[in-house]
Amino acid sequence: MAVVNYLTIPKHIFDEMLLHCKEAYPNETCGILAGKGDEVSKIYTMTNTENSPVSYFMDSKEQFKAIKNMRENNHTMLAIFHSHPSSPAYPSAKDVSLAFYEDCIYVIVSLSASGGKEQPEVNGFLIREGNVRSVSLFIHD
Ligand SMILES: [Zn+2]
Repeated sequence: MAVVNYLTIPKHIFDEMLLHCKEAYPNETCGILAGKGDEVSKIYTMTNTENSPVSYFMDSKEQFKAIKNMRENNHTMLAIFHSHPSSPAYPSAKDVSLAFYEDCIYVIVSLSASGGKEQPEVNGFLIREGNVRSVSLFIHD
């Protein structure tokens, strides 16, 4: 089992993730960060098929395409991200109960402090058997 304690994310991918979250505001949105080891090198922005401000579900066709593309690139799914338009950057009870990927980092982008603009708060977590543990996110150029 891969143990990842942090994630490194190139700034252009980080910015694309924030933009995707801002564009979906006031609804939640989601996506996948893929790469090797702890280094993210690709982002897949997804449609939230629930069209909801309090929950998300990845479009299954988009997810299937992303997984196929990851295999072709020899990448693994390092993180699943989603936005919290009006709550903190911390997993909700529902997020914890639906966290099926133990080796995957859950990245949460909170837009609550700024009304969807300016500086979002972004945190990463490992969620295993109901336990939530913070992981560091390093953003680089
Ligand atoms: Zn959530």
